Amino acid sequence: MAILTDIPFELDFAALSRELHVEPETEDAGELAELIEKVRAIGNPKAIYKECYVEGREDDAVTIDGITFSSRALRTNLAGVERVFPYVATCGEELDGIALPDGDFIQQFWLDTIKATLLQFITRYLNATLDRKYALGKTSAMSPGSGDVTVWPIEQQTHLFALLGDVKDGIGVELNESFLMVPNKSLSGIRFPTEIAFQSCQLCHRQPCSSRAAPFDKALWDSIGDGIEPEA
Ligand code: SF4
Repeated sequence: MAILTDIPFELDFAALSRELHVEPETEDAGELAELIEKVRAIGNPKAIYKECYVEGREDDAVTIDGITFSSRALRTNLAGVERVFPYVATCGEELDGIALPDGDFIQQFWLDTIKATLLQFITRYLNATLDRKYALGKTSAMSPGSGDVTVWPIEQQTHLFALLGDVKDGIGVELNESFLMVPNKSLSGIRFPTEIAFQSCQLCHRQPCSSRAAPFDKALWDSIGDGIEPEA
């Protein structure tokens, strides 16, 4: 298990202002600048990852380093794959300690947007680290809870965290009672080599979704989906 921390990141005030529709030279602009300064002072996006090996396969399950994941889609994606890289990346729990004015939902939204920016930095850094260290070729990733709920049930976040070890102690991320990660701007998954690019959105019926990265793929759904019931 390896931890990435203290990575460089930049916050571009002008770009964030545009994204958040904050007009220059306004009171909002001043407050946003203050918030960005606070994040610059304490922000510490981090990631944890591990090199793991597939040890067993069944029709609907795959065992990695002694932990069995129940997901036909994951099992199918890992057919013929030996080595995988589970990971959790996060904007960093420090940012949840920033005190915002009570009931100021605008600043909460700004902070969430800045946290998402830090998550992008650490995710890119994590992927570049894995590419460099392990000379990875083409890869894709799957995350528990992405796609239709049956594709890889979110409850299996606990399995993923167990695979990585003490994620809370390592990078400050934990699961709440709904198996969602805290801090909220965190990303978990398993990265694996593949010649055919895969996105969980291909196995997701949800419409509309502003974050959709690939269209629903009925042929892929049919090829993997035996036993997967579409969401109601
Ligand atoms: S379409 Fe939207 S909800 Fe479905 S997996 Fe993609 S991002 Fe998630």
